[in-house]
Amino acid sequence: MQPLSLLARRPLLSSIPAASRITTLSRHFSQTSLAMAPISKETDFLVIGGGSGGLGAARAASAKFGTKAMVIEGKRLGGTCVNVGCVPKKVTFNAAAIAETIHQSKSYGFNIQETAPFDWSTFKKKRDAYILRLNGIYERNLANDKVEYVHGWAKILSRNQVEVTLDDGTKTVVNAKKILIAVGGNPTVPPQIPGSELGTNSDGFFDIETLPKKVALVGAGYIAVEFAGMFNALGVETHLFIRHDTFLRHFDPIIQEGVTKEYERLGVKLHKQSAATKVEKDEAGKLTIHYKEGSSEGVVSGVDHLIWAVGRTPATADLGLESAGVQLNEKGYIVADDYQNTNVEDIYALGDVTGRVELTPVAIAAGRRLAARLFGPEQFSTLRLDYGNIPSVVFAHPEVGSIGLTEPEAVEKYGRENLKIYKTNFTAMYYAMMEPDQKGPTAYKLICAGPEERVVGLHILGLGSGEMLQGFGVAVKMGATKADFDSCVAIHPTSAEELVTLK
Ligand SMILES: Cc1cc2nc3c(=O)[nH]c(=O)nc-3n(C[C@H](O)[C@H](O)[C@H](O)COP(=O)(O)OP(=O)(O)OC[C@H]3O[C@@H](n4cnc5c(N)ncnc54)[C@H](O)[C@@H]3O)c2cc1C
Repeated sequence: MQPLSLLARRPLLSSIPAASRITTLSRHFSQTSLAMAPISKETDFLVIGGGSGGLGAARAASAKFGTKAMVIEGKRLGGTCVNVGCVPKKVTFNAAAIAETIHQSKSYGFNIQETAPFDWSTFKKKRDAYILRLNGIYERNLANDKVEYVHGWAKILSRNQVEVTLDDGTKTVVNAKKILIAVGGNPTVPPQIPGSELGTNSDGFFDIETLPKKVALVGAGYIAVEFAGMFNALGVETHLFIRHDTFLRHFDPIIQEGVTKEYERLGVKLHKQSAATKVEKDEAGKLTIHYKEGSSEGVVSGVDHLIWAVGRTPATADLGLESAGVQLNEKGYIVADDYQNTNVEDIYALGDVTGRVELTPVAIAAGRRLAARLFGPEQFSTLRLDYGNIPSVVFAHPEVGSIGLTEPEAVEKYGRENLKIYKTNFTAMYYAMMEPDQKGPTAYKLICAGPEERVVGLHILGLGSGEMLQGFGVAVKMGATKADFDSCVAIHPTSAEELVTLK
């Protein structure tokens, strides 16, 4: 008989009043868990981490293949993406995009008077309430799929045993036939300079209660670039400290250079070749950031928030990996093969903790395929995620989309003589009504390899790139050639049509 799960005893999150804060949520968990029935002592599939990958795997295992599955989550269901990542980030990006449109609308003849600055506090309350609703939906989904959900922290004791610490501090040992580690990562601790603790990280971005006047961000990855673009669009004085001359350095040069230049044009205060050296707080609570920029030194003062966005670190501390002998690589990620097997039989890992393409849909896809391979019919016994040609988007200003190899990667793989690169720069028709200094860039690049000109890299920068990339991603994944692109009749007038008419 199925034992009474925690879920059955706990009121759904959606029953918490919408205005409740995140802090209420953790209290809610600890109050309710005190009166809960013990969790199952045995399960077939124990998943550590109720984020994108863990939920994808557990739900598929239970709902599709009837496996007895359990998810252990220490914080909030949905993981990074739902709570402090993709979802609240995109909602904030939408607000920033509306701000941009309001400014641009004058060029189209609208007479818009801005009577007050953006009401960040109201916006944040609504955004928090939306996330709370999602937490509730995720919990209901687990219930519907008959996955046992336990709120607590998991620690591996051995190949088939996990200790779970519940909210009230009690510990239970669960025997599991198979264990999946999908614990994701955390923001990397900032460099140890005096006062670094006065800053926050990407999680803290989502706690900011009022519209700041001045912010500083450190980092050159997509998170720093997205946050900086949003703040700037919302009228906040934004300082971005980067170590080199460009940001988004894993992307194709067309993107690195294009977005860096555009941010400078939009008024983001870029500190290139820079490093923060000291942070101080004055009596009014404002921060002063001392930094080196090239060979000179500088100071930015009156900063409301400093956000360190210097990378993410896999969440493997205190997980008991050493008890089972699970192998980590030199960067601390769990080593998993293409089938998500770790070096220990019956223990699997996927998502951000494995450090391979750290994106939500990647974790979900890997999780669902793993569940099918482990618990599905024979036909799925070799199923795995193909990690090649995964499209990714940066919600920068403008948006960026990328799939396949960058030009330097393609040169290394195929040799320059075996490549044909098609590029274009143009002004999207949206800007036709605007003054020259209001016009944003659009730049596209197709990298084609071999005599058949197979498209091995596609990089786009400009309005609508996020939505545009998904369809082109299908084509690239199918192995489309330049001739296939050309054979698709253009849609006019769009920006995307330029990608099927490149000369
Ligand atoms: C600011 C930001 C913006 C992002 N934007 C995007 C985007 O636009 N698109 C995109 O695709 N990706 C985005 N990402 C990345 C995306 O969020 C991650 O790739 C994704 O969440 C990884 O899923 P996961 O299942 O591996 O881990 P997570 O979603 O991080 O889930 C891991 C879960 O495990 C729990 N956990 C950890 N240790 C334990 C333990 N011992 N016991 C119990 N529970 C534990 C954690 O609390 C967490 O909830 C963004 C990330 C950030 C930080």
